[in-house]
Amino acid sequence: MRSHARVVVIGGGVVGVSTLYHLAKKGWTDVVLFERHELTSGSTWHAAGLLPLFNMSYSVGQIHKYSVRLYKELEAETGQDVGLRTVGNIRLAMTLDRLDEYRQYASVARTIGVNVEFLTPDQVKEIWPLAVKDGLLGAIRHPDDGYIQPADLTQALARGARGRGAEICQQTVVHAIEQLPSGEWRVTTNQGVTDCEHVVSATGNFARNTGAMVGLDVPVLPVQHQYIVTEPHESIQARHRDGLPEMGVLRESDGSWYMREEAGGLLLGPYEKGAPACYLNGPSAESKYELFESDLERLAPHIESAIRRVPLFGELGVKQTYNGAIAYTPDGSPIIGPAWGVRNFWLNEGHSFGITAAGGAGWQLAEWIVEGEPTIDMLGVEPRRFGDYASSAYLKVKNEEAYANVFTIHYPDEERPAARPHRTAPCYERMRDRGAVFGQKFGWERPNWFAPVDTRQEDHWSFRRSRWFEHVGNECRNVMDNVGILDMTAFAKARVSGPGAANFLNSVVANQIPSLDGRISLCHAFNARGGVHSEFTILREAHDSFYLVSAGVFQRLDHDFLWRQMPTDGSLSFKDLTGSMGVLVIAGPNSRKLLQRVCDVNLSNESFPWLTGCEGTVGMSATKLLRLNFVGELGWELHHPIEYQNSIFDTLMSAGEDLGLAPFGIRAMDAMRIEKSYRMIGTEMSIEYAALESGLDRFVRLEKGDFTGRAGLLAWQQQGFKNAFVTLAVDGPDDADALGNNPLFKDGDMVGRTTSGNYGFRLQQSLALGMLNPTLADEGTLLEIDILGERYPCKVIAESPYDPKNLRLRA
Ligand SMILES: Cc1cc2nc3c(=O)[nH]c(=O)nc-3n(C[C@H](O)[C@H](O)[C@H](O)COP(=O)(O)OP(=O)(O)OC[C@H]3O[C@@H](n4cnc5c(N)ncnc54)[C@H](O)[C@@H]3O)c2cc1C
Repeated sequence: MRSHARVVVIGGGVVGVSTLYHLAKKGWTDVVLFERHELTSGSTWHAAGLLPLFNMSYSVGQIHKYSVRLYKELEAETGQDVGLRTVGNIRLAMTLDRLDEYRQYASVARTIGVNVEFLTPDQVKEIWPLAVKDGLLGAIRHPDDGYIQPADLTQALARGARGRGAEICQQTVVHAIEQLPSGEWRVTTNQGVTDCEHVVSATGNFARNTGAMVGLDVPVLPVQHQYIVTEPHESIQARHRDGLPEMGVLRESDGSWYMREEAGGLLLGPYEKGAPACYLNGPSAESKYELFESDLERLAPHIESAIRRVPLFGELGVKQTYNGAIAYTPDGSPIIGPAWGVRNFWLNEGHSFGITAAGGAGWQLAEWIVEGEPTIDMLGVEPRRFGDYASSAYLKVKNEEAYANVFTIHYPDEERPAARPHRTAPCYERMRDRGAVFGQKFGWERPNWFAPVDTRQEDHWSFRRSRWFEHVGNECRNVMDNVGILDMTAFAKARVSGPGAANFLNSVVANQIPSLDGRISLCHAFNARGGVHSEFTILREAHDSFYLVSAGVFQRLDHDFLWRQMPTDGSLSFKDLTGSMGVLVIAGPNSRKLLQRVCDVNLSNESFPWLTGCEGTVGMSATKLLRLNFVGELGWELHHPIEYQNSIFDTLMSAGEDLGLAPFGIRAMDAMRIEKSYRMIGTEMSIEYAALESGLDRFVRLEKGDFTGRAGLLAWQQQGFKNAFVTLAVDGPDDADALGNNPLFKDGDMVGRTTSGNYGFRLQQSLALGMLNPTLADEGTLLEIDILGERYPCKVIAESPYDPKNLRLRA
């Protein structure tokens, strides 16, 4: 056993072996994989081997697409047959909402280059003659999709890795991982000790145990999944004898099951409600090739549904059932990337479609380790998208929920109910009593919109304008005409202070940090290539003290990003204030009048201009006032010690009664930020776009000296930009707006994609933000946009169509 390696990969399932393969392929051949038993002895051996390209996530979609392409080439490269059967995959639609989901998905697929076609019920019948058409409205088909033999795939990747010099050690159990003073890792196994620069954890159902070795609470917990393989049937065997093609994979999403041919019979895999999380304390030390006892009763409704669709299934005897563990995360997507709070420790865990994802996950993680950055936007699979709130008890209910919802319709405004409320701001009850319909982000409950009193406080999810549309419109109009109050306690907040604070911050953000006390700057932090990683609002509280605010959902990501670059010479300190500071936003033309009634600070434009902040008292409570907001109106963010929130809230509500003060929610905020062309991380700003492609020119101070990503951005600029940020006026359908990921066309060619869309209630105009071929980005360019499968005219318009001169917010 080697005493030193550049990378140790722990786990010999398909994901770990793919990571090893891709590291070796990128030229890091001094890499070793430790597997406690044999390759594939975890979850990989019993997987059904399906390779579904379908995924609503931009990140996961690209990962799956890469995998399928790689798997097609592996046999030629390694000589190992991987049993790939490109038989196509049909997903049935039985409701109009399901068809909308497929139409929205087809937009995502088109923008990432995945081939998908729509079928009529008759066409389904032609391909799957054993299925009946009852209740079918249509279907989509991925012709490039199919299934593979997971064990053979793993062996092929292992062969490819070994051929490039990588080593695989089986029967090698990792017992301990410790970081040495040098920063290297020491990995202790039953066979000896290996020191290395990087550790990759790809341990499937053992993810939490492996994480615990380095003090990480990894948000992964497996759930049981079953599938049934039947005896062969003469009519299927006859098809083969007659030389007819395999029927392919059939998915009845509304019945929550998949089916394919298997050795002349059928294989059925349901995603049922009530499947239990398992391995709550990790698998046992003896666990290998482990299966649980089957529970077919739990599957009964899905078996009945399968028989209704494919009556022949009812005639088939069960040959074998499999009930194994699938690793899950609360949102069902894997975690691929760096761990938080430790250096050079990487996670490739939580894979519920690991056979499909392994190729792409190994590819991107290897890029990240070797090059320092992934090449695709990995936010959807970022390990740091979860936080401390994801305790093991939380994971149990949330992961069971994620499993049960694999086949439910993934509405853009979907908010799942399990494990809620979990993290609440003090004003939660007050907002609820005023009609708030809540959503959840990073564990926090946030009002999404407000139902009028005496109506149901219930969402109605849809791909189209829904029950909330009218009420969100009223909230926006009230903010435009009067004044609104919004709970933004979920913001990530931190203080960076000390003699080194200013230099440090200037070295990690592209804008000039505020030079005077009480000034605020909007600052973007780039990755090394010059794409946008994080956005911080920075208030200079004092000469050597800075208050940082960033998106709540990115708390762990943003704070970890800063931590990684901080000097260790004691010249600054970092304090997370997220849990101790609450935030209420008041916005609208009456906000000054309202606030002045209850606040001891002079709020006049002269003494409190836009983009400044100071300490004051609101009602009886110490408050930090920041004059800015994300909706483009006169307004202030009130940051306060969290225990005073209700005192401040009550003070404002009673002082604002005659001024039309009413709460508004996140959906109204989103509609208003699009009218101002305000970009968001993960949509308009991402590492896939250079900061200047995202139109951040006025926030990028190339002349200020070096900062992270400056050289990368300049190099990108030299190569030439392929995208330009645009705002679009959409002449779309009466009942729907762009949702993001809508393809944009010029003369029939796809020339860009939207990143967000919404209805601008203040402008009474459907709007979208997007990325477009720069040659077409001039104001006035006429384009077409795909919304839910139909094309509509749209036009490039000037940025910030609502109050372009910012007169209202500077009023
Ligand atoms: C019934 C069933 C059907 C499925 N069907 C599909 C499908 O059709 N398509 C699809 O894409 N996915 C499917 N899956 C999911 C798929 O099986 C998993 O996502 C995938 O196998 C995960 O691979 P992995 O490498 O992450 O984990 P694993 O295969 O579990 O590998 C992890 C490895 O790490 C090793 N390990 C753990 N701890 C240590 C340690 N301390 N030291 C050394 N080694 C260690 C383990 O022994 C194990 O071999 C299915 C799962 C089940 C249960």
